[in-house]
Amino acid sequence: MNCRFCGKLLVHVFVDLGCAPPSNAYLTAADLNRPEIYYPLKVRVCHNCWLVQTEDYARADELFSPDYAYFSSASSSWMTHARNFSRMIISRKELSAKSFVIEIGCNDGYLLKNFIEAGIPCMGIEPTSSTASAARALKIPILQEFFSQTVGERLSDSGQQADLIIANNVYAHVPDINDFTMGLKTLLKQGGTITLEFPHLMRLIEHNQFDTIYHEHFSYLSLYSVMKIFRNAQLRVFDVDELQTHGGSLRVYGCHADDSRPDSKAISSLLDMENSLGMKHIQLYQSFQSQADRVKNDFIQFLLDQKTNGKTIAGYGAAAKGSTLLNYAGIRPDLLPYVADRHPAKQGKFLPGSRIPITTEDRIKAEKPSFIIILPWNIKEEIVTQLGYVREWGARFLTAIPRLEIL
Ligand SMILES: [Zn+2]
Repeated sequence: MNCRFCGKLLVHVFVDLGCAPPSNAYLTAADLNRPEIYYPLKVRVCHNCWLVQTEDYARADELFSPDYAYFSSASSSWMTHARNFSRMIISRKELSAKSFVIEIGCNDGYLLKNFIEAGIPCMGIEPTSSTASAARALKIPILQEFFSQTVGERLSDSGQQADLIIANNVYAHVPDINDFTMGLKTLLKQGGTITLEFPHLMRLIEHNQFDTIYHEHFSYLSLYSVMKIFRNAQLRVFDVDELQTHGGSLRVYGCHADDSRPDSKAISSLLDMENSLGMKHIQLYQSFQSQADRVKNDFIQFLLDQKTNGKTIAGYGAAAKGSTLLNYAGIRPDLLPYVADRHPAKQGKFLPGSRIPITTEDRIKAEKPSFIIILPWNIKEEIVTQLGYVREWGARFLTAIPRLEIL
């Protein structure tokens, strides 16, 4: 396989997590007597541009259902993040009723509704029909398709270039990152700004976040690699913020390559940080597999010990990252009998691969487990607060990543 950005032959493996079904392919009770298709989950690193990328495999696209159950507005901390971002960018860019904002991958409109409220014209591009309908219900104009260079050209030709293009947590999901970036270039007005948020590969490595690796993610990005990809499309990254979201993300600000805005100091200091961690040396990437294996082994050992000691365990948060961990560790309902989740679309279903039932919180209240493993560790504070009542019977919370920890 060749690098999706620079085309060099990929010879190094970053991590091999075995095989798993797509992490959002939740099963219904009726699906339980059908087979599931497992795809390899192997990630490679390019020694030329340091883009970390999922290995290609033959996929049955119908399995990647466009109607998976993830609605951004289900997480209150994510909603707050979106509101704060909107306020900041509206003021920083001095956006008004004369501006035009496009969000790519707008999900259920959780972010653009802040622009609607501020009277700023906007449009969302969202391929998933269930979330696109939810966004339309908030009076957000939606173009329901995948973004590409072709879509960018079509919008640009019809006079719909944007002062601000937002693509939060989509860049890593794009199969053809060059085509997508060329589309951004075409869609951006002269003097306009692009903001992209994506999980920072540096934090993924530092904090053992191998559970954020799944089939829907094609790229794992550093500031260094994104700057290269932008440059190739005649764009330039001129500023960057570090964010706490998803265990450590970057928000990069891009403009046309010939824009007069100077590069911020944050760029050089973050590049220095990446360099000092060794992100331009293959050794860093080659040590990741053993880090992931240590987490897996400790987690399995903990579950076995509790079972032996007669303790009960519940999971909380049927997020995609939970599926990656549970499938890599080979956990089944005998060791983790259920995972509770607050989102009604997931309740009554089963996690892909592990086939662990997803329940309402009521089961936790009824069975009073000794331990609650929080699978979406990135929102653990929110979950600990929400489930505060479990302390009444002395239950303890734990997370498995970056290392097994009882909270
Ligand atoms: Zn490359």
